[in-house]
Amino acid sequence: MAAIERTLVLLKPDAVARGLTGRLVQRFEDVGLKIVGIKMKQMDADLTRRHYFDLEERFGKGVYDATATYMQQGPVVALLLEGVEAVANVRRMIGPTFPGQAAPGTIRGDFAHMSKAYAEATGKAIANLVHASGSVDEAKYESELWFGADEQFDYPGLAERYVF
Ligand code: UDP
Ligand code: MG
Repeated sequence: MAAIERTLVLLKPDAVARGLTGRLVQRFEDVGLKIVGIKMKQMDADLTRRHYFDLEERFGKGVYDATATYMQQGPVVALLLEGVEAVANVRRMIGPTFPGQAAPGTIRGDFAHMSKAYAEATGKAIANLVHASGSVDEAKYESELWFGADEQFDYPGLAERYVF
């Protein structure tokens, strides 16, 4: 069962504040992904640094600081999702980083529209609603960062019977 993966999703503070939690969780359940961990959390500077440990070296201090402020502006909802090639499938569902490039039908394309140019010109973080692990390695690191062993669940679901 090598293709069954677990991946981390965060509903970012803009998604939670906009009251989109239920609709976004629904989209993941609708495709048959199984919720094996879920909680609400206020990120602090330490968790932000550990979650986005390589963001500053990838994009510079300006992007890191704007993103850190954005991620701490209110609580997030963390989800651990399980399914067939869950990492790639969830990335496909959320769309690319900049909502202005994200196709309709993706979460970032359906619930936002901000462009990269606008974010760069204003120094604003991209309010793009969701985080999802970008690779299997990232998913392993992030699952352990966000969910303790007693917060990760195994239970029989209908998805294994009808979806995978
Ligand atoms: N980010 C940003 N501006 C950038 C690059 C990244 O605001 O130019 C923020 C944005 O919230 C993004 C997060 O940093 O979702 C992580 O960046 P990454 O490249 O990993 O994008 P993702 O994996 O979230 O699509
Ligand atoms: Mg990423």
